[in-house]
Amino acid sequence: MGYYGFGWKPYVTVAERRRKAAREMEKRKKQGHAVSPVSIPDRIIARTFWGKAWCENLERYSDYANRLPRGRTYVRNGSVIDLQITTGAIHAYVSGSELYQVALEVAPVAKAKWKSICNDCAGGIDSLVELLQGRLSEGVMERICRQGHGLFPSPAEIRLSCSCPDWADMCKHVAAVLYGIGARFDHQPELLFRLRAVDEKDLIVHVGKGTPLTKQGPAAGKVLGGEDLSELFGLDLAESGGAGKAVKAKRAKKVVLSRKGMSKPRVAAASTQGRRSAAGARKRVGREENNRTDS
Ligand SMILES: [Zn+2]
Repeated sequence: MGYYGFGWKPYVTVAERRRKAAREMEKRKKQGHAVSPVSIPDRIIARTFWGKAWCENLERYSDYANRLPRGRTYVRNGSVIDLQITTGAIHAYVSGSELYQVALEVAPVAKAKWKSICNDCAGGIDSLVELLQGRLSEGVMERICRQGHGLFPSPAEIRLSCSCPDWADMCKHVAAVLYGIGARFDHQPELLFRLRAVDEKDLIVHVGKGTPLTKQGPAAGKVLGGEDLSELFGLDLAESGGAGKAVKAKRAKKVVLSRKGMSKPRVAAASTQGRRSAAGARKRVGREENNRTDS
């Protein structure tokens, strides 16, 4: 320990560290523990919406900004040799001059906050697949990432600890783990919802209940893969009931358009059922606005 005072530490090459860490992890595996290393083969820590949003959230807090950068090299060179994310907690092993144990606690999203996020995103996310792939409208992304009010925790909601001797507020092992979490969310974004103790399905309340409501308008390709519904209807009627019915249907559409003053053919072209769900959607907008004033 004496050499710390002179700023000199025994040099341990990355290769040596890795060998040592690999032996430790092998031992743990034999003892029946799951081992899940963070592997970053091309230097880019996070490339998906979820991974990047996690890292960007951390970097915007001045409490962390100065200390985080030294974690990047560590996570990139494979030092986070095990990372486990569970509800409210992260446990990791980081290989330094020794093998260190990092434990983080993350508070769950407060119920009122989660309700507000879900209300604001209602109808804006069509499916779990789109949500987890991060194929979201800008409005939804902004809401989810909103500083202090979104899904990502603030430093006040995170407790950090490491078994290393030079533990201060944040050592490079903890910083590496924080980035490692972002890398993990690239592959398993659902773990963010586990970590924060919320159910991602709450964000997709309109699955199977007709036309999804989107306040900002749907992103390209969201509605029936971007096909024109009027085309679909015309084709369907022509095939099942002959050309005459199709022409009638088109006339009916025009009447609906002029009577209701609707400018969007997508809505006007829908059948009675479609109009009903559009009316339902309008009702839902009303309800949401009420909810927002309540919360
Ligand atoms: Zn440490």
